[in-house]
Amino acid sequence: MEILIAGGAGFIGSNLTEFHLNRKDEVTIIDNLITGNNKNIESFVNKNLVKFIKADIVDYDYDELPTFDIVYHLASPASPIQYKKYPQETLITNSFGTKKLLDFFVKSHSGSFVISSTSEVYGDPLVHPQPETYWGNVNPVGIRSCYDEAKRFAEALVMVYFRKYKINLRVARIFNTYGPNMEKNDGRVVSNFIIQALSNHPITIYGDGNQTRSFCYVSDMVKGLYGLASRKNLAGEIINLGNPVEKSIKEMATLIKELTGSDSPIVFEKIDQDDPKKRKPDINKAQKKLGWNPEIPLTEGLKKTISYFKERFL
Ligand code: UDP
Repeated sequence: MEILIAGGAGFIGSNLTEFHLNRKDEVTIIDNLITGNNKNIESFVNKNLVKFIKADIVDYDYDELPTFDIVYHLASPASPIQYKKYPQETLITNSFGTKKLLDFFVKSHSGSFVISSTSEVYGDPLVHPQPETYWGNVNPVGIRSCYDEAKRFAEALVMVYFRKYKINLRVARIFNTYGPNMEKNDGRVVSNFIIQALSNHPITIYGDGNQTRSFCYVSDMVKGLYGLASRKNLAGEIINLGNPVEKSIKEMATLIKELTGSDSPIVFEKIDQDDPKKRKPDINKAQKKLGWNPEIPLTEGLKKTISYFKERFL
């Protein structure tokens, strides 16, 4: 199969690239490397296993591209630190960039289109766990809104194209994901805690640590994305992908400290505006429509992630 991955040099995108290469698919990546990292894909690029186009999806000339079986749109800053650093780029990529990719998809008569949306569309949720039918509780002008509203706009645009052209568009609402190819400095809780624990620096909990998240190992996420792209009769569907095992941030700090054998103290720092108090996906729809279930338990996934950080950064 011919696969296009916009954002293929990023954390999830590069894992998805590897997944498709293992299936012997032909992969083309477009990435401007604003938050993606060359290192994630250089072994594939050096061996000519992927075609890498260093470009911004907003102004790339798509006429040069062929028809694809699957187009994945994962191009966007995605960690809070990154989208707060690049708020305009985040808004523009998810609006104009999404439009450009959708226009290319229509014109090229490609097979299926999957866009990465996010659990952030639910904001600081008042419904728990979050099903796809929940409309969310989002501050439209807060510091997270550049991401939340960008993704909500992207979803709205996808649904407009779906209704207008009756084409094969699918939306993945991705919940917190972790694993190899996370960036050291992207500020996510798993990467921060592992790096802090391994270097015996204080483990920084923001707020009281009672806020919760539900963490999905990246190999499970990639299988879910492929299931969403390849299963029949899912045009116009929006599906949560994530691991519903919920943990408090305090529990995560203790677990990572234990798994790394670290002597780091745990310290409490100020929490940022609009940090969601809890988050857990309702994955009934993914289970039914994709036959998908996350398989990697948290402890196993964290051990693999700790090994990755030791190998790549220490
Ligand atoms: N967090 C923390 N310490 C850190 C980084 C994050 O306590 O060093 C908290 C953060 O405030 C949030 C949760 O961990 O409540 C998850 O943060 P992350 O940035 O990974 O993603 P989010 O789910 O907020 O998008």
